[in-house]
Amino acid sequence: MSKAPTVVRTFDSAVFAHLARGRLESEGIESFIVDEHQVTNNPLTAIAVGGIKLVVAEDDLHAARELLDQRIEVSDTCAACGSTNIERNARGRRLAFLTLMFAHIPIGRAKTKLRCDDCDHAWRE
Ligand SMILES: [Zn+2]
Repeated sequence: MSKAPTVVRTFDSAVFAHLARGRLESEGIESFIVDEHQVTNNPLTAIAVGGIKLVVAEDDLHAARELLDQRIEVSDTCAACGSTNIERNARGRRLAFLTLMFAHIPIGRAKTKLRCDDCDHAWRE
């Protein structure tokens, strides 16, 4: 058992470092970020300090690497039949965007309507 702090990944951006940390924390792997403020305040020092580092205990290194290497795929599936043949209707978003551009007030629903092409089941996102 080793609790020695070990760098699992380095980043140029604090945003991506925090996203990765959130991913690890969601699976119960404790982690912390090193040199975030140094690199954010003076990006030219990123090379000197080795970037923003995401650090875990040495025991968690393998699991953390596997977790961060996984791709998260999000796909819409029909709750009624399980089909992935889904049609999106973003008309409400377009209307809200257009009214925001011209009247500076968004009018319309921001939710997207989804409809299954196989069984006609419809729902909102
Ligand atoms: Zn369906």
